[in-house]
Amino acid sequence: MAQRSNGNGNTLAELERENAELRLFRAVFNMASEGMMVTDAENRILAVNPAFTLITGFAPADVVGNTPGCLRSGQHEPAFFDNLWSELHRNGRWTGELWNRRKNGEVYRTWLSIATERDGSGAIHRHIGIFRDISEARDNAEKLWQQTNFDPLTKLPNRSLFLDRLLQALVLAGRSNKRAALVFIGIDGFKNINDTLGHTIGDMVLAEAARRFQSAVRKGDTLARFGGDEFTAVLTDITTVEEVEQVVRALLECLAEPFLIEAHQILISCSIGISLWPGDGDDVEAVMRNSTSAMRKAKDAGRNTFQFFTPSMDARAQARSRLASELSDALEHDEFTLVYQPIINVQSGQVAGAEALLRWHNRFIGAISPDQFVPLAEEMGLILPIGDWLLTAACREAASWQGISDPPLRVAINVSPRQVQQGDIASALERALEVTGLSPHVVTVEITEGLLLASGGEVLKKINRIRDVGAKIAVDDFGTGYASLSYLKHFPVDILKIDRSFVSKVMDNAEDARLIEAIIALGHSLGMKIVGEGVETAEQMAFLADRGCDFVQGYRFSPPLAAERFREFVTSGVRP
Ligand code: C2E
Ligand code: CA
Ligand code: CA
Repeated sequence: MAQRSNGNGNTLAELERENAELRLFRAVFNMASEGMMVTDAENRILAVNPAFTLITGFAPADVVGNTPGCLRSGQHEPAFFDNLWSELHRNGRWTGELWNRRKNGEVYRTWLSIATERDGSGAIHRHIGIFRDISEARDNAEKLWQQTNFDPLTKLPNRSLFLDRLLQALVLAGRSNKRAALVFIGIDGFKNINDTLGHTIGDMVLAEAARRFQSAVRKGDTLARFGGDEFTAVLTDITTVEEVEQVVRALLECLAEPFLIEAHQILISCSIGISLWPGDGDDVEAVMRNSTSAMRKAKDAGRNTFQFFTPSMDARAQARSRLASELSDALEHDEFTLVYQPIINVQSGQVAGAEALLRWHNRFIGAISPDQFVPLAEEMGLILPIGDWLLTAACREAASWQGISDPPLRVAINVSPRQVQQGDIASALERALEVTGLSPHVVTVEITEGLLLASGGEVLKKINRIRDVGAKIAVDDFGTGYASLSYLKHFPVDILKIDRSFVSKVMDNAEDARLIEAIIALGHSLGMKIVGEGVETAEQMAFLADRGCDFVQGYRFSPPLAAERFREFVTSGVRP
């Protein structure tokens, strides 16, 4: 078929193709989500697309024929545009970030790319600008950055940003021949505040403490919330230790005034550990570790004080981390056992039962005292699995006692506050009873006084659930915490165990003697039974018996015994 010509020598088919191409380009121009703007050689606007209008607010009629000056935000120096134009002339292209202003006055950020189109002779013909509104993306990125690097409660840098800054500070100190100090701050007894006043107030205390700490450090020092009730600061540009001490004293002093939070006057203090760079460790981890051991030392020294790191602390910290790593494998390696300390009925002189006490024998380290590893297990979150194991083991052992004595022997099992707060202790007990076949009525669960103080409704519910299962509740180490005697009325408690620190002093301290008398009298008036702990002498025993104490426990009768020995102790009928 002969091709028709359009008079310019182009075939119709070519024309149609061009037409189709034009339609395609128009569609791209109209539908693109990027704003597009075409200007002539004098930079007067020839055309803008709908996205341009959407982003800038300017309709084509507002801008066509004008220069893009109406878009300017005034945020850039004239030099910025000089550079833009010279690069555009040189390379035919410019790409970068630009602040512009919308028709409604709002300033926003764009990512703009401009290209120059030249004609056959090389003269500038048109400029084509394509841009995206990136303010929102930037806002989101900014938010994300905030979230990942800052603590939402105190608005301080968080642990990860802090570790970055610390590394920078160490590098800088090396270059400038100065020193850097890492200051590790632990709030003293913060758990108590959370426990007694609740988390909301606890959070407010932390936020206020953060504000005060911030005002105590110097400009340029980075203060961070390292986690929980721990704060850290890195002090840079240090020449003398006195400079560090000055900041540290300010940190301690800033807490001297009580916090006034929702009608509560709250007095807190902190303990501070300091490590220096260079000197106290070879890398960030070591410097961190050393500041925390120094902080622990400060806590041990009686709190509200500070302590510089010394190498002997490093040895302690290493021993501790060794202990932690062995502890995490201890269940798996079957390293725990239970021993049983007889509990004696004062009136009948009979063994009434036993308290199960945990023992850990590690194949490398040897025997470790529960006073050492129980708190560590709590900290590491290991107390839950250990506690589950222990419940079953104690119930199994107690099941084997049934029938050897009348009334049936009871078993007292220690549970840590964390087991109650974080776990479902009643269900764990039910499971243990089920697999061992032990009657719930011979079980006593020993909780701490601190847990009672923490008694939000949740804890109270959990304690009630334990009683619903059929077990009794004993409060361990009574008198060492802050629970007042009258406080006790509000709790479903069956047994009070008088702490051994009172029993041990009862013969030579009149105040302790009176306290014991009061505990026994009040406990009885509330229908509770009383156990005297740590009874070592006949005099202590006589005192307790005389005041009507119901049960006793202590070396005077027996130390904790291996399971077998305890059974022998009961059946041999040896009595004090
Ligand atoms: P606790 O519950 O007050 O246990 C009594 C502690 O006093 C035991 O120390 C026991 O051996 C010791 N003791 C008994 N009679 C006497 C005495 O006449 N004189 C003296 N000086 N001490 C006596 P142990 O076994 O070293 O336990 C220490 C603490 O470790 C326990 O104090 C308890 O808080 C914790 N613990 C032990 N076993 C467990 C457990 O199975 N679970 C939990 N959560 N904590 C445990
Ligand atoms: Ca106990
Ligand atoms: Ca006790």
